[in-house]
Amino acid sequence: MSAAGLNPIARHRARCHQVRGRMSDYLDGELEQSLVQDTERHLRWCPSCRRVLANLRRTVEGLRGLGGPG
Ligand SMILES: [Zn+2]
Repeated sequence: MSAAGLNPIARHRARCHQVRGRMSDYLDGELEQSLVQDTERHLRWCPSCRRVLANLRRTVEGLRGLGGPG
């Protein structure tokens, strides 16, 4: 992958996209350890992904709160 040629903003967007794609697995605890660390490192300096994660967490907890099937 030649991400080095992209400008910093494009690289940042690509990272956000990657991180957001794994967030549901991250919340479910189904992400492998190296990806968890990678995700947390990104979240530390990316407030917009933190907000996405907070919204997703609320949605997931809301679904569980409904009782669901079973
Ligand atoms: Zn991000």
